[in-house]
Amino acid sequence: MELLQARYLLRNPSGKIIETPNGLFKRVAKHVANAEERDKAGWEHTFYDLMANFHFLPNSPTLMNAGLPNGQLSACFVLPVEDSLDSIFTTLKNMALIHQNGGGTGYNFSKLRPCGDRIASSGGTSPGPIAFIKIYNTATEHVKQGGKRRGANMGVLNVDHPDIEDFIMVKSEGNKLQNFNLSIGTTDDFMRAVNAGTDWNLVNPRTGEVVKTIKARFLWGQIVSQAWKTGDPGLIFLDTINRHSPIPKQGTIQSTNPCGEVPLFEYESCNLGSLNLSKMLKSENGRMRVDWDMLEKTTEASIRFLDNVISANHYLMHQIETQTKNTRKVGLGVMGWAEMLAQLEIPYASEEAIGLGEKVMQSIQSKSYDMSQRLAGERGVFPNWTVSTYHPDRPMRNATCNSIAPTGSISIIANTSYSIEPLYAIAYKRVGILENKTQIEINPIFVAKMEAYGLWTDRLKREVLETGSVQYSKVVPKEIGKLFETSLEIPWKYHLLHQRAFQKFTDNAVSKTINLSGGTPKETVSEIYRTAWEYGLKGITIYRDGSRVDQVLQACRLN
Ligand code: ADP
Repeated sequence: MELLQARYLLRNPSGKIIETPNGLFKRVAKHVANAEERDKAGWEHTFYDLMANFHFLPNSPTLMNAGLPNGQLSACFVLPVEDSLDSIFTTLKNMALIHQNGGGTGYNFSKLRPCGDRIASSGGTSPGPIAFIKIYNTATEHVKQGGKRRGANMGVLNVDHPDIEDFIMVKSEGNKLQNFNLSIGTTDDFMRAVNAGTDWNLVNPRTGEVVKTIKARFLWGQIVSQAWKTGDPGLIFLDTINRHSPIPKQGTIQSTNPCGEVPLFEYESCNLGSLNLSKMLKSENGRMRVDWDMLEKTTEASIRFLDNVISANHYLMHQIETQTKNTRKVGLGVMGWAEMLAQLEIPYASEEAIGLGEKVMQSIQSKSYDMSQRLAGERGVFPNWTVSTYHPDRPMRNATCNSIAPTGSISIIANTSYSIEPLYAIAYKRVGILENKTQIEINPIFVAKMEAYGLWTDRLKREVLETGSVQYSKVVPKEIGKLFETSLEIPWKYHLLHQRAFQKFTDNAVSKTINLSGGTPKETVSEIYRTAWEYGLKGITIYRDGSRVDQVLQACRLN
């Protein structure tokens, strides 16, 4: 409720809230159903139920802006950065407009000539991409004051850019670039060079000249060391992304949106939504089971909802409207995966969980594609379909259907666990989601389970609040403890296996953070990054507990 009140519910010009949560879902349902040709009222009802039951929620901008004049509904954008001041500052302006409306932006800065390179027209030298990233970061900081939330950015620099070493180090200069996730645009050639221990060339993008040759493993060591220290940079695997692109003839994809779940062409946007898996269950003979029927029906309705959003959207600039409508990409993902597993009594760190993850996502993907194909029959294929890999066998309404987003806000609204992440802690402090507020929360499924066993006591509550964990408790039965292992207690291999399981059946990408305990050595980060590439993941991000001062979630230590 507090999050809805702070950011989502409509206000009158003097700032007073004039909407209830039901009113919000009605506003969104009505606007999205308006894109239907027939039976608008029936669809409005269906979409309202999807959201009001917390079976599905669209990304935040849709919840915030649907039905408003000029309501911008997409979460994800990629913008071009060409090697000219005109392009750099045009994109800066567009970034500001997108952030003001709740969207996030990604860019690849690799076309910019490196620091110190010549500028023929002025006789001066370029400050290089990092200087401009800093300007974008500062602008983001100030735009947030007028908007509903601080903007988010993804900055990519390719691994062969001459400024790559400075880019790797940039976040260690104090607490800089807080509004950027940084990723190295990594290629298969680079990964092979690291494995083989060979040389690596850094190339000036303006002239094509090799300006420096270094050991691939030296660069790798720098990347790993900084990621261990600060969480950045992550890697995005550009060759893997482009191998799976449904429209390779349209060009090469260079960047993703801020959290990595949607690789996009320049000026393309994507709108997301997430199914709440913790609700896709039914009770059978006293045991919880996956409700496959409900999952399929919810998937179909959600894809229809997301395709409607593309039509019902107000676009901030014509290039974005054109690119987005040419491909009609949507990203249906999930939240509440860890809570689904806990209710099914399957530990996250188990082969059974990995197998079920694949099965669940396979079902979502298959129903998503069927629905997109059905919509193509009803409404026509996406305009670039004829040059896509679906042509000629499979008519499709949308070039992509699925993305696993972090669900940073909508999972709080739906009161479930983030995305495909394990439970962060059984009790935790949530710092800074809302200004100046610290929330203390205990996982309700754990409480319900212990109550069912007659084991929930004030003493246990105190113990859980003190430690955030139930692994060392004498009261909690072992098999229950195993169901409630937390993010930092789960071995990194299982984090990665879950990411792989969901990526297998996701045409876009999976946003996941491999959470590591504070004492994790650097070699582990190296192994994780390397394994991510071998697994065919599209990107990888790690975070070592305590490595940033502004950490959003902290396991409870109230003493
Ligand atoms: P939500 O739960 O608010 O719908 P997610 O946490 O799932 O959003 O993030 C999905 C995408 O939305 C991100 O990858 C990013 O593109 C965009 N996004 C998320 N948070 C922000 C933010 N604070 N400002 C701008 N864009 C954001």
